[in-house]
Amino acid sequence: MRDVVIIGSGCAGNTAAVYTARANLKPLVVMGHEAGGQLSLTTLVENFPGFPEGINGPDLVENIKKQAEHFGAEFVHGSVIEADLLSRPFRLNIEGEWIETRTVIVASGASARWLGLESEQKLIGHGVSSCATCDGFFYRNKRIMVIGGGDTALEEANFLTRFGQEVLLIHRREEFRASKIMLDRARANPKIQFVTSTVVEEIFDVSKHLVTSARLRNVSTGKVWEEPVDGFFVAIGHIPNTKVFKGQIHTDSEGYIISEGGARTNIPGVFHAGDVQDRVYRQAITAAGAGCMAAIEAERYLEAEGH
Ligand SMILES: Cc1cc2nc3c(=O)[nH]c(=O)nc-3n(C[C@H](O)[C@H](O)[C@H](O)COP(=O)(O)OP(=O)(O)OC[C@H]3O[C@@H](n4cnc5c(N)ncnc54)[C@H](O)[C@@H]3O)c2cc1C
Repeated sequence: MRDVVIIGSGCAGNTAAVYTARANLKPLVVMGHEAGGQLSLTTLVENFPGFPEGINGPDLVENIKKQAEHFGAEFVHGSVIEADLLSRPFRLNIEGEWIETRTVIVASGASARWLGLESEQKLIGHGVSSCATCDGFFYRNKRIMVIGGGDTALEEANFLTRFGQEVLLIHRREEFRASKIMLDRARANPKIQFVTSTVVEEIFDVSKHLVTSARLRNVSTGKVWEEPVDGFFVAIGHIPNTKVFKGQIHTDSEGYIISEGGARTNIPGVFHAGDVQDRVYRQAITAAGAGCMAAIEAERYLEAEGH
């Protein structure tokens, strides 16, 4: 029987592991399909406090993991494929093996939705990004492409005009899902060029390990052309990794965990941390902070329960 099981090994999960390990709770971290979380997909992180020269994303999460291991945290490969959070102790199925625990910290993140092109996947962190706040700074006076038609895409496009010389907003339809106010703001921004009814067929140049252009196709006219570009931002949404908790942990219509205050979920003893509950900030530092909050709450919960 475990005191704490942490689901996810991104910034939130690993930070929760540091705190619960230092509280002598010997946490078990289930690393999931993406060990290290979303930061393992990127290269330089320049906005995590404490690193004046920046730090590589994979090094940052690996350092937090080592720090947690140093205090006794255990990490296992694999994913939680089933959960029983309605009985006590809680039961988690990790790739076919059930374990029991008194508390659970859900730090399973929200994966960015990608277009699904092979070139896109190979160029993530090398010109392809899903986070304007994180990577906009790298594209000063450059040509930037933003893909999407919702509020997030328009917000990212607006934000990126602070850096880029020009921002091309590529949307597959003529109409936008975004709110009128966001649309009006983007239309009034002289740096944003709207390219509608258009899809991305390919991103170049994988052989150079950087983005140089994208091949676009107008779905109405059939016209195909290559557009030179330096930064490629995909803003078509996120998918919170909460499927396995469906019907147990309360989530909103998109699957984000609904917080009951602090790091609490609707189930006492089950806590949330990081992007799995955060549709607003989605940063490494906020995820790490949320991991700390969840750990402290788990610790206090166990103490109140007499463990
Ligand atoms: C390309 C890119 C660049 C970025 N750059 C920056 C940046 O420069 N600065 C910044 O602050 N932020 C950046 N971000 C955002 C930042 O990475 C996220 O905000 C942060 O990683 C969120 O941490 P998290 O721990 O909540 O979730 P995640 O990092 O998403 O980690 C989720 C973890 O849960 C695991 N998991 C999921 N389902 C299960 C399951 N069923 N069982 C077990 N484990 C599971 C996954 O394997 C993963 O380990 C970037 C994101 C991307 C995609």
